[in-house]
Amino acid sequence: MKILVLAEQKEGKLASSSFEALGAAQALGGEVSTLLMAKDPAALADKLASCGGGKVLTVAHDSLDMFNQETFRKVAGEIVEKTSPDVVIGVATISTRALLAALAAKTSGAMASNATALRVEGDKVVVTRPCFGGKAVSEVTSAESAKPFFISLRLKAFSPATAGSGEVSSESVSDSCFESRTKVVESIKESGQTVKLEEADTVVSFGRGLQGQEHIPLVQSLADSLGAAVGASRAVVDAGWIEYKHQVGQTGRTVTPKLYVAVGISGAIQHLVGMQSSKCIVAINKDKDAPIFNVSSYGIVGDAFEILPALTERFAQGG
Ligand SMILES: Cc1cc2nc3c(=O)[nH]c(=O)nc-3n(C[C@H](O)[C@H](O)[C@H](O)COP(=O)(O)OP(=O)(O)OC[C@H]3O[C@@H](n4cnc5c(N)ncnc54)[C@H](O)[C@@H]3O)c2cc1C
Repeated sequence: MKILVLAEQKEGKLASSSFEALGAAQALGGEVSTLLMAKDPAALADKLASCGGGKVLTVAHDSLDMFNQETFRKVAGEIVEKTSPDVVIGVATISTRALLAALAAKTSGAMASNATALRVEGDKVVVTRPCFGGKAVSEVTSAESAKPFFISLRLKAFSPATAGSGEVSSESVSDSCFESRTKVVESIKESGQTVKLEEADTVVSFGRGLQGQEHIPLVQSLADSLGAAVGASRAVVDAGWIEYKHQVGQTGRTVTPKLYVAVGISGAIQHLVGMQSSKCIVAINKDKDAPIFNVSSYGIVGDAFEILPALTERFAQGG
């Protein structure tokens, strides 16, 4: 089976998600190659090769510095045509999930998004993906006539590749690939949060149980002591306590950290769909019957105003 991994770079740095996609490809087995499109891909490509990127195909051009769906789709489209992979995978970041969908639409391929597990059955890849807001799980594969099979992987759902071998090959594509009807003029960084919610290994989220915006520093201190990003329920976002970019759930962001701490969050289904794939969930709630405890690995029944400072003090001392 031929697998093409779409690696992603931002501002000249490889996105950590690229290694998750490589890890998923390695676990599938088969012949792995990796596509890296960048202004100056050489050094980044070496890193991918040393992590098992197989044949790392690079396309270099000034216009590949920032993500532009039209340009990236045309370049990747030519590489897909040239290499005819059976499967094309990438992690469902904002840009790579758009790229995969655009590629699938332009070819006779199939598309499955938000995969949380992959396995090989015969000569097919079977994708496990949550559906109906996480209430059910479906398994999908591609039809015989549909090739390649484009698969976007849920961020943080696959272990990153750390070692392996590979070789770098510089590829050329037609000049017309770089002609675009749109131009990315500027990319503006999100302000505030230093650790990105979707990429964080630890997330501390709070809900209405915190009883007011003035108590957010209690959560922030715990997050700082853990090196965590801060998340929130929709109730507190709607109340204007914190910006929407922190919202976790059906109408917010989906996170899959190693540790998710839910403080004063009841555990409504719309919140759960955004965090229940976290590896370890710790809930702090004064109501022992709160639904959040049904999905928690550890539950602390008690008052957040007593528990948060105690935990922060402990972690600040090094756990
Ligand atoms: C279409 C739709 C989409 C939605 N999308 C989202 C979404 O993306 N994300 C989301 O989060 N919600 C979403 N919701 C809202 C969701 O249904 C809930 O209303 C919301 O998650 C509740 O937020 P909460 O848990 O903070 O508040 P509450 O449900 O009010 O829970 C507060 C919790 O705090 C506990 N508590 C109170 N005081 C303390 C204390 N001192 N110490 C410890 N615990 C305490 C209480 O026991 C309670 O369990 C959506 C709803 C709809 C209809």
